[in-house]
Amino acid sequence: MTLWEKLEILGAAASYDHSCTGTGLAPDLPFTLEGRRHLPGIYLAHTSLGRRIPLLKVLLTNRCRLDCAYCVNRASNRVPRTAFEPRELAEVARELFRRGLVQGIFLSAAIQGCPDDTMERLVETARILRRDLSFRHYLHLKILPGVSPELVREAVRLATRVSVNLEFVKRRSLHRLAPGKEKGGLIRALAQAREFALEEGRIPSLTTQVIVGATPETDYDLLRTAQNLYRQGLLKRMYFSAYIPANRDPRLPPPGAPPPLLRERRLYQADYLLRLYGFDYRELLEPGKNLPLDRDPKLVWAERHPEFFPVDLLRASYEEILRVPGIGPRTARRILEARRRTVLTPEGLRRAGVQLSRALPFIALGGRYLPRQLSLF
Ligand code: SF4
Repeated sequence: MTLWEKLEILGAAASYDHSCTGTGLAPDLPFTLEGRRHLPGIYLAHTSLGRRIPLLKVLLTNRCRLDCAYCVNRASNRVPRTAFEPRELAEVARELFRRGLVQGIFLSAAIQGCPDDTMERLVETARILRRDLSFRHYLHLKILPGVSPELVREAVRLATRVSVNLEFVKRRSLHRLAPGKEKGGLIRALAQAREFALEEGRIPSLTTQVIVGATPETDYDLLRTAQNLYRQGLLKRMYFSAYIPANRDPRLPPPGAPPPLLRERRLYQADYLLRLYGFDYRELLEPGKNLPLDRDPKLVWAERHPEFFPVDLLRASYEEILRVPGIGPRTARRILEARRRTVLTPEGLRRAGVQLSRALPFIALGGRYLPRQLSLF
């Protein structure tokens, strides 16, 4: 099998992992490799600064001894199987980077044999990239379930970011759909990664993925787990992945069932509120509930709390301003700066980035609501 054929199989096999901000195949790349227009394994990713960059997202191997019900690569599926040698994969990745086709690399793997053996090969790929090929850019490594702490340490040392996929937040879901994985072990791996990063004087950059819509977990369960992990410093970001039926399995929604994409979107919006807006998950929904789908969670919260509004933008604190629909952290900071220098006007608010059509019902200037018609300009 050629390297190209391996890349086609193992790039496609990695597409289900969302823990690295992948947003779909990168369209219309500026260059081609060996005259080919479509390059497997290259996905667009969002950086923390909101830029979209092409990322190589690929498995070292899709040969797996586990049989997770939801996974295309599970042992019982008849799919083409292959594996890279660590040096092969390192050189393919380095070459794609050298040609400007990708700006970062995300390496993962199915569990071929013993988890430590596969993880050692993944770490060796990263070592070759860093040591032999002088790759100094973004490198994300997946920590496989059940690997020993020394390999977690080595992955943290080599990677810009590491991730441990929790898959489901409830033990019984994991037990039912991913026998062979254990929630305590996955959380332990996150804790080890955090500790090793801190020992090296680095801020831990840890992410995870959970699958949405395949099991009875509610949005309350998902957001509670996310916030608990953020508060413990065990996670920088939780990625939500709407379940796309890949297998016919009585434990799961059938093939053809639509993935809950709107629910996924609402979860991302709520997650932003937890991480960047100072919300607690219990403010957004009640136990056993999902987020409403028809409006974003910040608007829902604002409509349920008329006692909090209007927020007077001439006097309110940063935290209060952040609660207004249509105002994000950057805009809130701009409002604080602007009101120190000048008299705030509706036009000034618009220039600061306020989405007036959303914010007007919830704000005041100097004790007065602004006319609703402003939103029409
Ligand atoms: S361990 Fe489970 S999720 Fe990972 S590749 Fe194997 S079957 Fe898929």
